[in-house]
Amino acid sequence: MGQLNTFPLSYKVQGLRIVIVGGGEEALNKVRLVTKTTAQVVIISRQIEADFSGFAVQVIERAFAPSDLDGAALVFVAEESADAELAKAEARARGIPLNVVDVPAECDFYTPSIVDRAPLTIAISSEGNAPVLARLVRARIEAMLSPGFGKIASLAGSLRQRVEGLIHDGAARRRYYEALVTSPQVEAAVVSSPVAGRYEAEVLLDQHVKQGEAKGVVWLIGAGPGSEDLLTLRAQRLLQEADVIVHDQLVPSVVVDMGRRDAERIDVGKAKGHHSFSQAQINTLIVRLAGQGKKVARLKSGDPMIFGRAGEEISALRKAGIQYQIVPGISAALAAAADTATPVTLRKVSSGFIMATAHGADDSDLAHWASLAQSGLTLALYMGKSIASEVAAQLVAHGASPATPVGIVVNAGRSNVSTYSGNLRSLIECQVTFSLGPAIIFVGEAVEAGDWADAAQLAGMSFKVA
Ligand code: SAH
Repeated sequence: MGQLNTFPLSYKVQGLRIVIVGGGEEALNKVRLVTKTTAQVVIISRQIEADFSGFAVQVIERAFAPSDLDGAALVFVAEESADAELAKAEARARGIPLNVVDVPAECDFYTPSIVDRAPLTIAISSEGNAPVLARLVRARIEAMLSPGFGKIASLAGSLRQRVEGLIHDGAARRRYYEALVTSPQVEAAVVSSPVAGRYEAEVLLDQHVKQGEAKGVVWLIGAGPGSEDLLTLRAQRLLQEADVIVHDQLVPSVVVDMGRRDAERIDVGKAKGHHSFSQAQINTLIVRLAGQGKKVARLKSGDPMIFGRAGEEISALRKAGIQYQIVPGISAALAAAADTATPVTLRKVSSGFIMATAHGADDSDLAHWASLAQSGLTLALYMGKSIASEVAAQLVAHGASPATPVGIVVNAGRSNVSTYSGNLRSLIECQVTFSLGPAIIFVGEAVEAGDWADAAQLAGMSFKVA
């Protein structure tokens, strides 16, 4: 996501004046927009040409005077004239935010396109770059939100104190509001009359109070390899619902940021060598949070069931009688296969695909290395970057041919992906320094069918690309 040069905010204009200098069509356009507010709108120009009669505005046909800006919250300049220049200078001198129609360089602020379901307002801005696009987006949102939405928002506002008095837990309160704004009964009622709306809202409130503090839940969510758009829609939805997000270090902040803005975020960062939380502590943490009635998103990189310690967390949740749900994610090996167009299963070449840990590179786990070396299948080795040469040596020692193709993908599924190609022998001999980031090591004949043309070559070995 790029950075904003402007900051969207809701600016109080109640009881203040909005001054528009100009009397033509452009002034009229601004009038349409600002008369949605309760501010006093004043139009000043020597030449009033447009018809402002349909709007609650004060039209003054005369030269601009600096005192016109007394009590002004915002100033729009919508004509080119000596008066306009005077108004601009005066607004700047007084520090009143200024908008000069169609001259972005002179503007302190831009006016967004507005979807008006007062008090609910959605403002769409392109920082003055593409008003047409902003209007298109606005039309789509208009179509999405029923006209009753504003009334529901007012209703929610009027219930606030009562709800706070009856439901003390913040998460439970939010669940009530969620139910309120999505209830078809409430919407139908509120559109017909405020009293009917209030009645339906009370019925719903009663149900929620009776339900008591709802029980918490833990979602074990796969965050994918590290790009927002490789997240599943379900993961995205649950992240929006979660009260707490408990995430690993490997989950990049762009994904963690997709959660609700006010959700609590806990980094249990298990970066290599910095065990800030032990697995046992994480188990205890998620059980405790859910026990408090919270919705917990336990966010893990890739897929939670693959080298994600999900087994331990699930068994702790079962023991504590806490509800849980698993949301699959794109595992790093699959992202790596996609990045390099490597078909990990390939007719007549590889009849299967093994996801395995590269740890246990010491001799202790003979069966592990023997079965991998002799499988004849494509291997995707996790957690092996820092011991890549030892891994290759183990495979060769257990019977794999030194000529077996190898492909390594660092930062799979991310914009900063980098790749390396060679074979087991070259991996044993190479002195390559891999780029920073997690890596998948592919081993097997099918690797050669991938597109490794851009890969750095390990000790001068590379694949021929068909
Ligand atoms: N559950 C994760 C794996 C976690 S174990 C998954 O399904 O992908 C951590 C290992 O995953 C890392 O050591 C690395 O081998 C691999 N990994 C995670 N993200 C990666 C990425 N974006 N690119 C390459 N490998 C990655």
